[in-house]
Amino acid sequence: MARTTPPRRADIAAVFPELAPLARRAVRLHPRLGAPTVRDSSVGGPLLWPADEPWPVCEGPHPKDDLPVSPAAVRLRRGLQEAARSGEGLTAPERAALEATHTGHPWSPGPNALLPVAQLYARDIPGLPHPEGTDLLQVLWCPLNHDPQWMPAAKVVWRSSAEVGELLVEPPLPADVTQYGEYLPEPCVLHPEVVDEYPAPLELERDLAERIADWTEREFAGTDPRYLHPEELRAYYQSELSVAPGWKVGGWGPWSFSDPSVMRCATCECVMSPLLTIGSDALDGSGWDPVEDRGLAEDIGILIGRSYHMQLYYCSASFDHPHLENMQ
Ligand SMILES: [Zn+2]
Ligand SMILES: [Zn+2]
Repeated sequence: MARTTPPRRADIAAVFPELAPLARRAVRLHPRLGAPTVRDSSVGGPLLWPADEPWPVCEGPHPKDDLPVSPAAVRLRRGLQEAARSGEGLTAPERAALEATHTGHPWSPGPNALLPVAQLYARDIPGLPHPEGTDLLQVLWCPLNHDPQWMPAAKVVWRSSAEVGELLVEPPLPADVTQYGEYLPEPCVLHPEVVDEYPAPLELERDLAERIADWTEREFAGTDPRYLHPEELRAYYQSELSVAPGWKVGGWGPWSFSDPSVMRCATCECVMSPLLTIGSDALDGSGWDPVEDRGLAEDIGILIGRSYHMQLYYCSASFDHPHLENMQ
């Protein structure tokens, strides 16, 4: 089923024509719980991976504050929590099992296998940037925190799906994930949708950002119960008119809690472009939730920082240059 972002309440580029040349296309991915196969675009689904290609691992180092748990413990915990929520209640042994999923195990001595995060076929994602001769983007990560950004460490793989022969049937699982399991996505199918975005206010010239805030404060006063206070109204452009939240390809960065910094390629110094944005929530109850999903609550298992986004950038001069990642 298609997913449709509700129309914005103002065509902001018509009100502020200076914004028009800054419009960028983003493809919202709209991940929803499902059972994707290796032939599908997915979040947290199985990857089309050649049997003879080594599975990537992370050698760390990993900050060792809390003991890690296993992916199986996180899945067991989620199942028991779901049963508790659905009103069946938990038996005493189930409550004990739930408790035990938090205990943790000693850090594994070897490298940690990476975990599939996203697999995107170019046929599904209009305008997906990709190296010539490839049609498939695969993103994996080590589901632990890494200094200095306190985020998972991602790996980006491009390949030609036609050149993958025999498939790896049972990829290894990471031995260690964070105690809360917040980097272990549930398998999701995607419902890509193209939208237009404009820069977050922090990326605009200050004078323009101020004029937009003045305008939204006047224009939307008393029109939306979620935006009552003048400060909330002044943030209306940030919240509702510029950058779509959640999982997406391309578009603009959701700069909100940190000052925007120009993401420069470490190899050639050119300005990098947003590739994939990983959201904390598939649905957030905001005015950006698709009309088809009104009232739907779905937890796909990801939490970046305090409900932030993790954004991967690529170098448009060369796909061989390492990507950058940032929390926003
Ligand atoms: Zn790692
Ligand atoms: Zn570069």
